Amino acid sequence: MTQRAYNFAAGPAALPEPVLAQAQKELLALPGPRASVMEISHRSAAFKEIMAAAEANIRRLLAVPDNYSVLFLQGGGRLQFAMIPMNLLGEQHHSADYLLTGAWGKHAAKEAAKFGEVAVGWDGSDSKFTQVPTDAQLDLSPDAGYVYYVSNETIEGVQFANEPQIKNSTLVCDASSDFMHKPLDISRYGLVYACAQKNIGPAGATVVIIRNDLLERSSSELPAYMNYKLHAEAGSMMNTPPTFAVYLIRLVTDWLLNDIGGLEKMHSINQSKAKLLYDAIDQHSDFYEGHAQPDSRSLMNVVFRLPSDELTKKFIAEADEKNLTALGGHRSVGGIRASIYNAMPVAGAEALRDLMVEFCKKNG
Ligand SMILES: *Cc1c(COP(=O)(O)O)cnc(C)c1O
Repeated sequence: MTQRAYNFAAGPAALPEPVLAQAQKELLALPGPRASVMEISHRSAAFKEIMAAAEANIRRLLAVPDNYSVLFLQGGGRLQFAMIPMNLLGEQHHSADYLLTGAWGKHAAKEAAKFGEVAVGWDGSDSKFTQVPTDAQLDLSPDAGYVYYVSNETIEGVQFANEPQIKNSTLVCDASSDFMHKPLDISRYGLVYACAQKNIGPAGATVVIIRNDLLERSSSELPAYMNYKLHAEAGSMMNTPPTFAVYLIRLVTDWLLNDIGGLEKMHSINQSKAKLLYDAIDQHSDFYEGHAQPDSRSLMNVVFRLPSDELTKKFIAEADEKNLTALGGHRSVGGIRASIYNAMPVAGAEALRDLMVEFCKKNG
């Protein structure tokens, strides 16, 4: 069998090896139904148990309050860009405030403008999306239907250390690329969502956590699939949910609970992995240039540049020889992007740090 690399892909991204091994073991037949999870009815007792366990794990890991629903939807992050304004804006709430901290926030604001008024509460494009705002820098409208932000901008590698402290009770967060990397106070949010393929599973499922009073904003005129209230009432079974993806989310959240020991532990592991790489950048700042300002640095996506495109290519090639893969930066930012989500072992970050130190000694 091919040896597994340390995979620094931004998404779809690395999954915990014990999770893949478990899925492999059970792939042909689950104990009860004696068929693959992909071959059984979503309304079977066996699958209902899997989805209930996935939801219970998420509720336990994040201490989700009882007045919130947890939904498993499809359509990725993109569909949420549209579903959020379609459901949360309307006759009562015409406008929403969007914080633009990177490419994903910009995409979401553009989509929302099709359904309501979008006010920009902060725009980091002048500084090339290298930082997140402080609370004092926000320009929010008192009557906005919600305030939308992206907790971790995956492409630029900038992340909020804490959610913005705002008066508006309807804080909406795209947590696609840092969901469950640390504990979160869900009660501060109206809605938090994450497509699975960065940090909690494979592509195909999106988890939405929504405060139940907000479900009353969903108009019955909406197409059924676009309506949060109908999904909540149907327990995410309005139609066939992405069964295999939900099954893997169940295994990943089992791993977080049982192998890692919860999100406090996960956070401290993530902090130590990120520190290895940022220290290497800072200690060789004549060679490496980090994209994000130090106080906005992401624990999940470490984005940095080398002195030239030639050296960047050479770095990526040498990394590949050492079994460190998928390090090329996004085309809009260039350089290197090392995505070190929950599933990246500390040893993978250490191996990359070692290469960074060695490479700069040889080529600096
Ligand atoms: C990847 C990503 C998205 C888009 O997700 P899709 O599932 O590809 O639609 C949205 N927001 C963030 C922060 C992401 O990292």
